[in-house]
Amino acid sequence: TQVETLLEVNNIEVIYNSVILVLKGVSLNVPKGGITALLGGNGAGKTTTLKAISGLLASERGEVTKGSIKYRGQPIQHTDPAETVRKGVVQVMEGRHCFEHLTIEENLLTGAYTRTDGKAGIQRDLEMVYDYFPRLRERRRSQAGYTSGGEQQMCAVGRALMSRPETILLDEPSMGLAPQLVEQIFEIVKTINEKEGVTFLLAEQNTNVALRFAHYGYILESGRVVMDGPAKDLRENQDVKEFYLGVS
Ligand code: ATP
Repeated sequence: TQVETLLEVNNIEVIYNSVILVLKGVSLNVPKGGITALLGGNGAGKTTTLKAISGLLASERGEVTKGSIKYRGQPIQHTDPAETVRKGVVQVMEGRHCFEHLTIEENLLTGAYTRTDGKAGIQRDLEMVYDYFPRLRERRRSQAGYTSGGEQQMCAVGRALMSRPETILLDEPSMGLAPQLVEQIFEIVKTINEKEGVTFLLAEQNTNVALRFAHYGYILESGRVVMDGPAKDLRENQDVKEFYLGVS
């Protein structure tokens, strides 16, 4: 059976400040209902790729100068972030980015700002988020700035869910978290993928954990895709083992 491609990145080039060439022809296919991992070291271009898709690049003086990005077959590379969210694609930025002075619940509600359905639907989804992250229910009245790194990461994912996305671009969910928490976050991502049918494109330096939860992976090096394949194959690939999984 043919799986529908939801997001198609075709040979994109990205330049910052009109001079710094960071992506040198990146192509990706993100199938509907899958978890796709974007792997690679520091500075490889993972974040830039996600921002090119979400439209957040413009606010950093970055520009897609070649290639195309299509969502459901429609070009989106000139779409602003709010419009991209309305199309069903939301980015969870690296480093959590909660509003520190708002409570956890207020943070979650900000995720619903593009929705046009009524309060009842939003309330229902708040409960859904709390069911996925019971810890957030306990902390709902706490100011986000005073919660732990893990709670803030949960809050960032929960906030994305509040927009009822079809696709979540998740940047470095493991960053700065203890291994046990990383595992927990990835388990929840897997459950959301399976139960809600949300498609994920996630950027990760932690190749090991990403390849255990993703279905397919792309490896970026210096702004180019150097390898891609089913996660299972990448896990067993000798080069991947040696350079990215830390075993030979
Ligand atoms: P990390 O895990 O560190 O975020 P990454 O793979 O996500 O790494 P990017 O953040 O996309 O990599 O960065 C790729 C390259 O682009 C790096 O060399 C970085 O210095 C450069 N870069 C990123 N943002 C900007 C910017 N706003 N202006 C200029 N150069 C930038």
